[in-house]
Amino acid sequence: MSKVSSIFAEVRKAGRKHLLEMEAKSVCMEYGIPVTRFRLAKSEAEAVKFAEEIGHPVVLKIVSPDILHKSDVGGVMLNLKNSKEVRKAYKQIMENVKKHRKDAEILGILVQEMAPPSTEVIVGAIKDPQFGHALMFGLGGVFVEVLKDVTFRIVPITEEEAREMISEVKAYPLLKGYRGVPPADIEAIVQILLKTSRLVSEHPEIKELDLNPIMVYEKGAKTVDARIILE
Ligand code: ADP
Ligand code: MG
Repeated sequence: MSKVSSIFAEVRKAGRKHLLEMEAKSVCMEYGIPVTRFRLAKSEAEAVKFAEEIGHPVVLKIVSPDILHKSDVGGVMLNLKNSKEVRKAYKQIMENVKKHRKDAEILGILVQEMAPPSTEVIVGAIKDPQFGHALMFGLGGVFVEVLKDVTFRIVPITEEEAREMISEVKAYPLLKGYRGVPPADIEAIVQILLKTSRLVSEHPEIKELDLNPIMVYEKGAKTVDARIILE
């Protein structure tokens, strides 16, 4: 069985359909989709140690099968610059989560690399019973949430289709650079679209996938949050 199939089997065995962020990111890594480096800490001391290994600044996030929107419960702390801040954030997250969701099962705290702010894009996939997976692309934040400036293709997509998807959203000029903001690495986005297309094509059991946001830099890109829901 492939690594991805065994992750899905574990999720099903646990009676879940939603992958944890770390599981979804592990699936992405199998397909070469770039994600922020992460490690699961089971204690405050481990969080401090892993943060040192990864390198500050780091992000801490709650890991719980009962919590789908981590920031809604105060479960995400960004830009932690030293061990003292990591310790404080660890305690704060535990306290926040207990306040919001008293009976949530907590598997630990995910320590991850802090991706510097940049232009945000999103890549998604949703399965239609008739057509199979549709792949979605757009720029993050207001562009997708307010303006619905997104585009779709049925998978598998070709490299040419990946380029079309990127250039046909209205916000495309922002990716080409403007007013001192350097151009974004379009090739890195093309590769993420192609790899995501392959991932969902090869795994029809994926009902929904969401890489949101992906930070795109002058060179390279990094997925900051990933969600996968199985059928
Ligand atoms: P939620 O479950 O609430 O969607 P996210 O993991 O998306 O939680 O975190 C909330 C927000 O925090 C993200 O949308 C992003 O803006 C920021 N963020 C999360 N992880 C990182 C990271 N590793 N580097 C930089 N920013 C991050
Ligand atoms: Mg998110």
